[in-house]
Amino acid sequence: MLGFGSKSRQAASAAVGGKDRFETIINSIADGVIMIDKQQVVQLLNPAAAELCGWKIDEATGINVNQVFKLANKKGEPLKTSEDPLHKIMESDKPIRVDEAFLLNRNNSQVAISLSLTPLPDPEGHVSGVVAVFRDVSTETAQQQQRADFISTASHEMRTPVAAIEGYLALALNEKVATIDARARDYLDKAHASAQHLGQLFQDLLTSAKAEDGRLTSHPTAVELGSFLDKLTSDLRLVAEKKGLFVEFVVGSKDSVINATKSGAIQKVVRPLYYVYVDPDRLREVITNLFDNAVKYTPEGKVSLGLTGDGNVVQCYVRDTGPGIPAEDLPHLFQKFYRVDNSATRTIGGTGLGLFICRKIIELYSGRIWAESEVGKGSTFYINLPRLSDQKAAELQKAVPAVEPLEPSSSL
Ligand code: ADP
Repeated sequence: MLGFGSKSRQAASAAVGGKDRFETIINSIADGVIMIDKQQVVQLLNPAAAELCGWKIDEATGINVNQVFKLANKKGEPLKTSEDPLHKIMESDKPIRVDEAFLLNRNNSQVAISLSLTPLPDPEGHVSGVVAVFRDVSTETAQQQQRADFISTASHEMRTPVAAIEGYLALALNEKVATIDARARDYLDKAHASAQHLGQLFQDLLTSAKAEDGRLTSHPTAVELGSFLDKLTSDLRLVAEKKGLFVEFVVGSKDSVINATKSGAIQKVVRPLYYVYVDPDRLREVITNLFDNAVKYTPEGKVSLGLTGDGNVVQCYVRDTGPGIPAEDLPHLFQKFYRVDNSATRTIGGTGLGLFICRKIIELYSGRIWAESEVGKGSTFYINLPRLSDQKAAELQKAVPAVEPLEPSSSL
């Protein structure tokens, strides 16, 4: 006996021509499949769906999907209508994929699922129903968590001895406290550089593990990006200038260049105040990372930090005159461990974690980060952040330390 409600059985089998064949196919799918109509009434569900939801097929068929297929947030609280993908798809009529959602089954137990929703158009192209396909991902989620915990603990534990090695090597290299011959200095210099690289790798691994499971600490406050970036440019310029690169900080258009000269002569301009709500230490991490990359990958020319914006968005960027990044690599740059495979990355050290961490941090503040580049013409890394009005910024600055977080905005 195959397990479908009779109404859905008839409708569905008529559609595919051959009831037994249709039912065998749907029933053999290990993923849960639920089909609902425009009124959100369950028309069909397969045994896998029935088991995951904790309902009998005949009981669940013909009732509102919200009774059978209840989605919740990580804490087990039912989703608000505006957050519910089943509601969203009816509005947008575009397929939706959710890698991790939480299903509350009939016993109110929470199951981690991955979910994809596909709209079913009627002959006029309007949404006449939705097919939901979902799968229990609790095991994968638990394994991922274990892996993240392991990386986190291991990198934390390994950072301490590496820091000690780095410290002792620095002491050995310090002429005031140790006497070594030239050959030993050469070896120790190399050992010191490697220890520093290892320390950075552990630090990046730890930060990326925290970023992935939402444990990155963040203390946001109202930050005026103009003065913030101006100060940061002064802190960072030395390392670029040592390499012979020209550094500039551009606000708004190219006409209003501040600190444009190597000698540090300052051309003051009147500019708007660009407030954002971020943790300044985290944002410094991001900009420093982009700036360091620009310096690292640019053999000669210029590195520019820029700031612009409109009423809603503040945009800052780091631009270089380096080798550029091939178009096929651009979509992958912000993935974990991704490095462009070319001679530069083979000779220049790196972990491939920096841009991943940058993305995670910028997403904490409802921002967006991306890169534009053309091979041979340099690269620009952009960051968009929601702009705070001067008034809201003043309120937040007064209300120290407890400030209420902003509502995240969805697209920048
Ligand atoms: P890495 O530690 O390798 O620098 P990132 O995550 O910071 O890791 O960057 C990922 C990759 O993006 C780099 O390996 C490099 O190939 C490319 N990349 C990043 N910034 C630049 C840049 N300014 N110019 C050219 N390539 C860049």
